[in-house]
Formats: sequence, C-alpha cells, structure tokens
Amino acid sequence: MDELKKRILTDGRVLNSHVLKVDSFLNHQIDMGLMDRMGRAFFDHFKECGATKVLTVETSGIAVVCSLARYFHVPAVFARKTPSLTTVDDQYAAEIFSFTKQRAFTIMVNRRFLTPDDRVLLVDDFLAKGQALLGLINIVHQSGADPVGAGIVIEKAFQDGGSLVRDAGIEVYSLARIASFENGKVLFS
Ligand code: 5GP
Repeated sequence: MDELKKRILTDGRVLNSHVLKVDSFLNHQIDMGLMDRMGRAFFDHFKECGATKVLTVETSGIAVVCSLARYFHVPAVFARKTPSLTTVDDQYAAEIFSFTKQRAFTIMVNRRFLTPDDRVLLVDDFLAKGQALLGLINIVHQSGADPVGAGIVIEKAFQDGGSLVRDAGIEVYSLARIASFENGKVLFS
C-alpha cells in the first residue's frame, strides 16, 4: 500500500536495527483516514474469506480491527492482556512473549465471543516474531473456530514471524513489508 509506505518513510522512526516507531499515525496518535483506507485494503484482499469475526490483541491492534470490522460488518474482538480474577474460567488463554516489551503475557478471549461456527480473520499492527499471531491462532483453535487468514499493517520480513505463521498454514497479507533497517533507513521488500 503506497500511502502507508510513504507515511512510514516520512513519519516512521527507526529506533534500532529491529524496531520501528510509528506512534504519530498508528500506535499512539492515530490517522483515522489512513486507518479507514487500510481497512478497505484488507477488505479488498480478504472479502471472499467468509469472516464472521475479526480478532486482534490489545492495544495497538484495536484501531486496525475496528476499521476492518466496519467493512466486513462483523464484530471486532480483541484479546485482553489483563487478567480478571472474576471471569478467569470463562476465558480461552494463551501465553505470548512480547518482542517490544520483552516480557511474557497471557492473552485471553471470553468464550462467549468465539464459537465453533466462527471464521476468524486475525489482524495486528506489526508482525515481528509471530508470537501475537500464534497466540491468537492457538485461542481460535481452542474455540473450535477456523482461522481464515491474517492481515498485518507492517511486517518486518527480516524477522521469522511471517514464515512461522505461514508454515502454520495461515495466509498472511501485509500492507507494508520491511526488508531491513539500514543506517536508520527503512528498506521495503
Ligand atoms: P510479534 O508477536 O510478531 O513478535 O510482535 C508483534 C507485536 O509486537 C505487535 O503487536 C506490536 O505491537 C509489537 N511490535 C513488534 N515489532 C514492533 C516494532 O518494530 N514497532 C512497534 N511499534 N511495535 C512492534
């Protein structure tokens, strides 16, 4: 998606050889026009997949999943990272290790929001080492639903998440794929 790539080049900040900061339009302040056009781009790609739910992990995936849900006319669901002692028995749960926060989280989805009849399209802002997506796929499998694909805003193709998820049999469609960060510059695949 050319608009997204241009925005990454103008507003993205390469923090080190592995991490890109895009907090002026995606992760902190959100450009809703761009978000809407990204939702449309995901819809154009996945419109035949028969999704009945779109699913992400809080926090940064929420704006993305909402923009997709508007095009698919299905509920947007996000996995929580904060446990609730009162509802713990009603949750599907999976362990993930956060690449940016360098710590493990349990992600949880209430059992009422995923059923064996669901076809679930996964979404996230970044794909790095694949932990978030693999955790979501684990949860979808626990519910008996079908994961029908994964839409990613920015895939860092030099990390192994993309191949891990594709090897698990899930189609991954990324709006921007980054080959490397060289001397503080973003190079696209
Ligand atoms: P993974 O689970 O694939 O290792 O990492 C994906 C998650 O980590 C995303 O949900 C995203 O929030 C965060 N993440 C991974 N790499 C980056 C990055 O370069 N920049 C930002 N802002 N977040 C990242």
